[in-house]
Amino acid sequence: MAELKKIVWKDADVRCPFYLSSSREERSIRCEGFETGMDSISRFRSLALKDKHMGSYCAGKFEGCPLYRCTYGCKYAD
Ligand code: SF4
Repeated sequence: MAELKKIVWKDADVRCPFYLSSSREERSIRCEGFETGMDSISRFRSLALKDKHMGSYCAGKFEGCPLYRCTYGCKYAD
């Protein structure tokens, strides 16, 4: 039997250290901001796009996420 692909992601699935929360109702992901004292919120045009992003980046290869790269580069890179 073929393996089923997960399409709904939970907080426990996330690997990215910048992740704070997400909302299915608002189709959004909230992350550590790229400046001190702020958060970054990404709002997607569809739930499918949000779930795809979470699977590809937040719960997957987060180092490739444009927001991760921006935040890391602004706050933590030498
Ligand atoms: S992978 Fe990107 S969108 Fe996901 S939690 Fe990290 S910085 Fe935020």
